[in-house]
Amino acid sequence: MTTEGVEADLQPAILLVDDDSFMLDLQTRMLRDLGFRNVVAAGNGRQALERLAAGGRAPDIIVCDLNMPGMDGIEFLKTMSAHAFEGSVILLSSEGVRIMNTVQKLLSGGRLVVLGALEKPAPSEALRALMQRWKPVATSRLARPEQLPLAPEEVSEAIRADRLLLHYQPKVDLRTGALVGFEALVRIDHPRHGIVFPDRFVDVAERSGSIGRLTRWVLHAAVGQLARWNAEGLAAHVAVNVSMEDLCAPDFASGAARTVRDAGASPTAVTLEVTESRAMSASMAPLETLVRLRLARFRLSIDDFGTGHSSLAQLRDLPFTELKIDRGFVHGAHSNQIIRPMLEGSIGLAKRLGMTAVAEGVETVEDLDLLRDSECDFAQGYLVGRPMAAAALPAWRKEWELRREALFAS
Ligand code: C2E
Ligand code: CA
Ligand code: CA
Repeated sequence: MTTEGVEADLQPAILLVDDDSFMLDLQTRMLRDLGFRNVVAAGNGRQALERLAAGGRAPDIIVCDLNMPGMDGIEFLKTMSAHAFEGSVILLSSEGVRIMNTVQKLLSGGRLVVLGALEKPAPSEALRALMQRWKPVATSRLARPEQLPLAPEEVSEAIRADRLLLHYQPKVDLRTGALVGFEALVRIDHPRHGIVFPDRFVDVAERSGSIGRLTRWVLHAAVGQLARWNAEGLAAHVAVNVSMEDLCAPDFASGAARTVRDAGASPTAVTLEVTESRAMSASMAPLETLVRLRLARFRLSIDDFGTGHSSLAQLRDLPFTELKIDRGFVHGAHSNQIIRPMLEGSIGLAKRLGMTAVAEGVETVEDLDLLRDSECDFAQGYLVGRPMAAAALPAWRKEWELRREALFAS
């Protein structure tokens, strides 16, 4: 086999679907010019499905027009998704960004990956940029062997047996890049599954009544770590996640204050990030607890702001000191005409309410630069540092001091 042949095998197989034959030719040529050699074209959804039914290599990437007579792009992609298609999709349309965003959401429930959406005709550069996001299925889905939630008994047992551990993710000041603190993120060290992430057990704990014990464990461990940092001369804050369920317990505030005092730390260095993962019955209990926590000088953050139940109503009714903008409004905002104004608006809102604005999910230099321009206060995300064991923090701090200079030079 020639070298070229091998390369061609490693290249993604691309299927272009568009009813406009002029467009189809134009975009096929464009893709070939970009160096993609496995490109096939179909004039509509039906034709594409027939081709696929006839066998041959399944496409890795489908570039699909939305507006087509007969079977439209949405129906075609939903059919693909229903047939367990796991490849990637680029949407093409002249319908404008709002529609494209909605369609992207509509399709994100299945296993196919939407790489992005472009207005027709898609400029070559933009097409190439989206193509670069493609990863072969085998590596893009490093499927953890078990993805299912843990059983309630496994969660209680982990808490009882002290098989929990914390990782810490740094938060930095956006004016200077200086370290301001860490968010504590809990994991279970499971006898069979290894390290299990919170998306597999926090919800379970909330539903099965063990969240109170989980949160107490986390707070105790996190303020213990805070006291050790203080002893080492590091004046960092620590943030701990608490659920709305926790706030319904009448003794939560007094218990938390005691835990911090016993560790020899100060509540002013502790931020409680409040998330409400599902609707709560209207009750005054969380409000009462939050007021007590403020009176005890804890800092209170509204987590995942902009999603689910973290809404303007909560901001109006509850005494938060920090607004933590969900990563869905942060990463990629610089190039998205819809989420960018939402990000900037949220930062402005925080400022006008006298709150600290924190952005999570900062992954790229573009994300960081936009936040600095928008005068957001603090940033957290993979660009700065991943969550890590406390033992790894000194090495991260050294490394950050070097990178920080370059990132915050201007
Ligand atoms: P969260 O509070 O929004 O925490 C941030 C999550 O985003 C963490 O996932 C973190 O690893 C991830 N992350 C950080 N930087 C980036 C980034 O740049 N890009 C992306 N895509 N993700 C980033 P993790 O540790 O899996 O935690 C997931 C969620 O579990 C947390 O979301 C939080 O709601 C919950 N959780 C974690 N620890 C606790 C806890 O001790 N108690 C409670 N009640 N919930 C917790
Ligand atoms: Ca959080
Ligand atoms: Ca969050």
